[in-house]
Amino acid sequence: MKVRFETFGCRLNRAEALAMQAGFESRGWETVDHARDADLIVVRGCSVTGRAQRDCEKFIDMLKRSFPMKRLVVTGCMKEKKNEFILKDVPKNEIPMATSRAYLKVQDGCSGGCTFCTVPRFRGRPVSEPFEDVVEKARRFIDAGYREIVVTGCNLSLYDFQGRRFPDLVAAVADAAGENCRVRIGSLEPGETTIETLHAMAGHANVCRHLHLAVQSGSQKILKAMGRNYNVSDVEKIVAAANELMPGIAVGCDMIAGFPGETVPDHYASMSLARKAGFVKGHIFKYSERPGTPAAEFPGEISGDIRSKRAHEIAGIIDANRVNAAKKLVGQTVRIVVEDASSTGGWTDGHFWCSRDMKLRPENAIRIRRREFADMRVTGTSGHALVGVVSVGR
Ligand code: SF4
Repeated sequence: MKVRFETFGCRLNRAEALAMQAGFESRGWETVDHARDADLIVVRGCSVTGRAQRDCEKFIDMLKRSFPMKRLVVTGCMKEKKNEFILKDVPKNEIPMATSRAYLKVQDGCSGGCTFCTVPRFRGRPVSEPFEDVVEKARRFIDAGYREIVVTGCNLSLYDFQGRRFPDLVAAVADAAGENCRVRIGSLEPGETTIETLHAMAGHANVCRHLHLAVQSGSQKILKAMGRNYNVSDVEKIVAAANELMPGIAVGCDMIAGFPGETVPDHYASMSLARKAGFVKGHIFKYSERPGTPAAEFPGEISGDIRSKRAHEIAGIIDANRVNAAKKLVGQTVRIVVEDASSTGGWTDGHFWCSRDMKLRPENAIRIRRREFADMRVTGTSGHALVGVVSVGR
C-alpha cells in the first residue's frame, strides 16, 4: 500500500508527519511523492490563521476533485473525528526518514486561554511524553547519525513529567547528544520557565544559540486582550538574560499585527520591541479571526489593509536586524551542518545559511559531505546569507 503525506504549518506538524510516516513505513507502507500514486493521502492541516485554513481547505477540495476514489485523511490542527479510526493503529515516535535533522516531539496540547487561538480545541490539554522515553529517543536519533535534534511541542514551557520540567529535559537531551549532535529548541512562550531553560541551554555548548519566542505583541494592553500571561518587560528580561548568558544568541519571535483594538501606539510598541530586542527572525502574522474564539467577537476590528501594512512594517525591522546580525558574523567562525554538499551550504546554529565563498575558490577547496559538521570562517554576506571558507570539517 502507498501513502502520500501533505503537510502544512509548523515544525510540530512536520515532526508529527515524519513520525507518522515512519509508523506507516514500519508497517510496510511505501511513501510516495505524488498523491496520484497513493492509496491513502494524509493531509496534516494547519488552522493557525484563517488564510492557512482556507489554503488547506482549498487544497483538500482539489484533492477530492482530482482523486475522488482515494482515501483521504485530514489531521494535525484540522482534525476530523472520522479519521481517527484509520490512524489509531499507526505507531508514533519512530525514527523518521533520513535527513540531517530529527524532530523530537516531547509534548502536545495546551491549557492556555489565549483569546485568538484554536489550538487547545484541536490538541486538547497538555500531555508530556515520559522523560526517559524522550531521552532514549534522542539517543536513538544520535545513533542513527542525526546531526541536529529539534525539540518540538505545542507549548514546550508546559512540559512536566512527574515533576521533571522542560529545563531538565533540555539538559538531559543535550547530555545525551554529546559533541556529535546539536540540539535546537523550538518556540517558547515567554515566562519563568524560559529563564530556567536559558540556563540549561547556556550550560551545554551543543545547544544552538537560537531562541524563538512567541511574543505576539509589544503592547501591554494588547497582550492582556490576547490573554497572554506575561508582560512586555518579561520579554525584555528574557532577551537580556539570553544575551548575557549566551552572547551573540539569535533571537526570533512570533508577532501578530492588527489584533482587534490595536491602535497606532500599540503597533509602534510592537515595532519598538522588535527593534530593541534585536529579533533576527520572525513569523509575523496578520491577525486572523478564528470562529469560536473570544477575540473574533472583540470590538475594534482592524481592516485587512492595515493588518498587512503593520505586519509588513514589523517584518521590515526584523529583516534589517537580520542583515546587520549577518554582517556582524563576518570574520567569525560558525559551525554548520552541511545540507548542500556542492556549495558546502548549511545552517548555523543561529539559523543563518552559510555556504562556500565562490570568489575564494582556490582557498576553498575543502569539500565536506552532506550531514557532516563544517566550521566556516565567514568572509562576507549576501543579504541574510553568509559566505565563508571551510576551516574544519568532520
Ligand atoms: S499558549 Fe499558544 S497554543 Fe496555548 S492557547 Fe496560547 S497561543 Fe494557543
